[in-house]
Amino acid sequence: MKLSKKLTLSFILSILISIIIISFISNIRINKRFENFLVRERENSFDRIHEEINEHLIKNNFRINEMDLKHYALSEDVVLTIKDNDNKVIYNSGMGMGMGMGHGRMNRMHSIPEGNYVETSYPIMDGASKLGSLNIGYIDNSYLTDSAMIFKSTLTQSFIISGFITILIGIIISVVLSKGLTTPLIIIRNTANDIRSGNLHARARVNSNTTEIVELSESINYLGSTLAKQEEIRKRYASDISHELRTPLTTLKTHIEAIIDGVWEPTNEHLDILMDETSRLAGLVDNLKDSFNEEDYRIYINKTRFNITKEIEDIVTAFEPIYNKSDYKLNTSLENNIEVRMDRDKFKQIMNNLLANSIRYLDKNGEVSIGLKRIKQNVIINVKDNGIGIKESDLSQIFDRFYRVDTSRNKMTGGSGLGLSIVKSIVEAHGGSIKLLSKYGEGTEIEIIFPPD
Ligand code: ADP
Repeated sequence: MKLSKKLTLSFILSILISIIIISFISNIRINKRFENFLVRERENSFDRIHEEINEHLIKNNFRINEMDLKHYALSEDVVLTIKDNDNKVIYNSGMGMGMGMGHGRMNRMHSIPEGNYVETSYPIMDGASKLGSLNIGYIDNSYLTDSAMIFKSTLTQSFIISGFITILIGIIISVVLSKGLTTPLIIIRNTANDIRSGNLHARARVNSNTTEIVELSESINYLGSTLAKQEEIRKRYASDISHELRTPLTTLKTHIEAIIDGVWEPTNEHLDILMDETSRLAGLVDNLKDSFNEEDYRIYINKTRFNITKEIEDIVTAFEPIYNKSDYKLNTSLENNIEVRMDRDKFKQIMNNLLANSIRYLDKNGEVSIGLKRIKQNVIINVKDNGIGIKESDLSQIFDRFYRVDTSRNKMTGGSGLGLSIVKSIVEAHGGSIKLLSKYGEGTEIEIIFPPD
């Protein structure tokens, strides 16, 4: 059953129950009060009748005027019986015609009135001596007079009318109330369905002052944003990994091709470089397993002490055949024996990305120069090429993820727009900074500064 229907029904049911209880209790209490009141009234009026008849009889020396008494009994709606001291009936007015039935029931006046006939006896006194007794008889239900009946039916009508009005108001209130509850719930349900069907950016915007509903919508929104974040991390992770695996694989492929072509001797030194690259690949794959368990995607730095001059030389040796193959030059100007403490594999990743980028954008007489120096404990690395350069309008976005300059060259090279953003993340994870200077048509220079560890 729908919540709104359920709410309205429960509302109406509780209104009906309360009206029945109220009318029942008030009916009983009012009847009781009414009865007490009438009994008291009757006692008073019987006292008065007794007094008047007593006075009348004394005044007339106990002589009875039957006509007068008959009229009197009729007008008072009672049966009058007078007895002497020997209990002998001297006078009896007889049952009145409309007695005990109220004037509204005159059409039934020949029938016997409902209820018990009751008599109350009063002594007829003349000073201290008792002359006889007066019995005043009446039908016990005679309190159901017209006015009492009208009062009771008016009361019942009032209950029925107020019941209708209350139910009407109740329905209006329950409709408003259930709308106030169900509208935000429907919004939240729709948002949950949207999220379920893959729209992770769907958010519930509810306008409610019910704490539980506000909390529920916050929870759904939180769930949505957490899922969206996870999805984002998953995608980012997948693209970063594929980018990072591609570079060493290309290096390996080029080297093996160079060996097969006979342009690169398979010397121990060269094979060591290939071995190194293979180990790095294996390391990357190993890291995959661990990093997938991470809640957040962050770059984890594993610092070791190593000779960065030597490292760059090895990288250059590895890249030389690739550059030579295209008749490009790879120059170095490295300060000797600089020792650093940083993540060696990540540093290699930086250089691989930069050198892979440069070679893509070189033209005839292409040349790349790598510089390494230490200034005031900072290690500064430069990678400068005389390639096609980058337009000034693209420079501000060059480190953004997936940003690629739209050139015909780029369509051929088929990068993913991730290389520079990964380089920047690694540099920053080491506390360093990166700067890119480029002139369209002249070349590009990247400068990285690592602070001392
Ligand atoms: P990609 O994987 O596409 O190379 P990057 O983040 O490494 O992505 O580079 C982003 C864009 O910057 C590239 O599309 C390219 O146009 C430009 N770019 C990067 N390095 C150079 C460079 N040395 N010379 C010219 N353009 C470059």
